[in-house]
Amino acid sequence: MEELLTLRDEVNDLRHQVQTDALTGLYNFRFFSNILPLEMERSRRSSSSLSVIILDIDHFKQFNDSWGHEAGNQALVHVSHLIKIAIRKLDFACRFGGEEFAIVLPNTDLHQAYNVAERLRFLIANTDLEIADKSLRVTASLGVDEFKATDTDSPQGFIERVDAWLYQAKDAGRNKVEGPVRVPVDTNTNVTTDEKDVLFNLFNENQD
Ligand code: GH3
Ligand code: MG
Ligand code: MG
Repeated sequence: MEELLTLRDEVNDLRHQVQTDALTGLYNFRFFSNILPLEMERSRRSSSSLSVIILDIDHFKQFNDSWGHEAGNQALVHVSHLIKIAIRKLDFACRFGGEEFAIVLPNTDLHQAYNVAERLRFLIANTDLEIADKSLRVTASLGVDEFKATDTDSPQGFIERVDAWLYQAKDAGRNKVEGPVRVPVDTNTNVTTDEKDVLFNLFNENQD
């Protein structure tokens, strides 16, 4: 019996390792590739929407060149931490590869996903990253799109759709969210004081 329990623990450990990105602790690409088709199927069956956000850190090569690869790694951990703060428990945050992340948001329509993406963009752009005695910041560009129960795209087709919006966000000057609906371009002026309080309280709570 004890052996069985040990074995079960080992299997759980291995499962965790196989689906986790070692640097950031987020899910890895393998996990993402498995979960997306499953969630698309669930969306079809339950007639609910599913959204995906793809996030890419801006000018990250330059960041590495200026501050070093280790600082770059710390920036990846920092952004991952902010992603975890911005999403709900039932969402899946994955490191897609390099400095690119994908967030799967089950039961979430485009409007809600847009709000998550915008909050995340704002959090990243406004949170210092302390490295040595320096306060650094990074920004990120985000693409967002929705999979409706009646949509017929393949998982790859859906991801290409989201990725195309990410490229639009880069084209539009970076530090932006793009998707099938228009959001105000300069969101800093559109985030109310209350909303800023909520964001930063949320951040402080999670820091403890
Ligand atoms: P853009 O705004 O267009 O996204 O520009 P970018 O510089 O972020 O994009 P590019 O694809 O040219 O460079 C990505 C950089 O990310 C290059 C690579 O050194 C860095 N990078 C990828 N993975 C890691 C990692 O695990 N650690 C560190 N420190 N850097 C990484
Ligand atoms: Mg980049
Ligand atoms: Mg990239």
